[in-house]
Amino acid sequence: MNTPTTFTVAVLAGDGIGPDVIAEGVKVLRAVEKQLSGVRFELREFSVGAGEYLRSGDPLPAGALEGCRACDAILLGAMGLPDVRWPSGVEMTPQIDLREKLDLYCGLRPIKLYHPHDTPLKNVGPGGIDFVIIRESTEGLFSARHNSAVPADAELATDTMRITRVGAERICRRAYELAAQRRRHCTLVDKANVLPSMAYFRRIFDEVGRDFPTVQTLRVYVDAAALYLVQKPHAFDVLVTENMFGDILSDLAAGLIGGMGMAPSADLGDRHAVFQPSHGTAPDIAGKGIANPIATILSVALMLDWLKHPEARRGAELVRQAVAAVLANPADRTPDLGGTRTTEQMGDLIAARL
Ligand code: ATP
Repeated sequence: MNTPTTFTVAVLAGDGIGPDVIAEGVKVLRAVEKQLSGVRFELREFSVGAGEYLRSGDPLPAGALEGCRACDAILLGAMGLPDVRWPSGVEMTPQIDLREKLDLYCGLRPIKLYHPHDTPLKNVGPGGIDFVIIRESTEGLFSARHNSAVPADAELATDTMRITRVGAERICRRAYELAAQRRRHCTLVDKANVLPSMAYFRRIFDEVGRDFPTVQTLRVYVDAAALYLVQKPHAFDVLVTENMFGDILSDLAAGLIGGMGMAPSADLGDRHAVFQPSHGTAPDIAGKGIANPIATILSVALMLDWLKHPEARRGAELVRQAVAAVLANPADRTPDLGGTRTTEQMGDLIAARL
């Protein structure tokens, strides 16, 4: 018998609802593992986040970072708590530090409607919303987060949008590559009519596009993109944008498919990758056992795709099919979607389908 391929996965449950949803993600990973031949998962847990800061004074200890680097993939819950802040007043965000330290430049946010019951839009059938937002995750306006805190008596505060050629080229290339594998349509979201940095981004988008003649393109200003995503989400396949615009539009897009609890994400680099639900720690529902674990479970599917092993890829498809099968019954929903199921019950239902 052939020796199975073992993939190592760093598990960072984090704060707030992170541990609740990660428990269900791991449950589903173990359930799908049983269906796969020749693939095994070795899970390594690390404590990272605001809770870890309270314990050790460092929200992302060096040992945890090195542990993550050594693994094939990283599965993350959510991090940060409103009351735990740096002396400057900002919240700790080790998940963003991880993106920068591991050069995870490609934020992948698939937005897919599994059941018409879950969208606030009218007349949308299954499959009517199915697009991917690609968010640049290492520069853009977020790079200003490294600026020093603004003194209380300051008369001026500025944050700068940073766009580098290397950063713009690699993110646009990822977007075109993905579009080429999907419906061959790629939309650039920018603000090229106002900001020179965005006109530069657009120029690079056009240059990279010459290598992908089969992909149709569209350029949309970010304000119009917000409108069109609500009015005609079916018109989009892959959208690519800078960090901050991607942050905002991803939340809007999650609203189209049932909210933060339904939106998975991946932060991909060339060597490392983090998989996590798009939502944060949701302190308002932490510890109540009612968080929706589906975003995390679908992030596990993204992780299985990333491992680039045929059996793992089959596992990703099995997970998505199990989610679809459970959501076919509108009664099987957590309270964010109007149901009464607990976090654990949703995980059990999906694992049982596997
Ligand atoms: P962050 O700043 O990290 O995004 P946040 O607390 O501002 O964190 P989220 O954690 O994303 O934002 O939550 C926004 C709202 O969505 C909260 O009111 C929360 O109750 C709800 N929410 C988020 N995730 C889930 C989930 N998995 N299940 C149910 N509701 C959720």
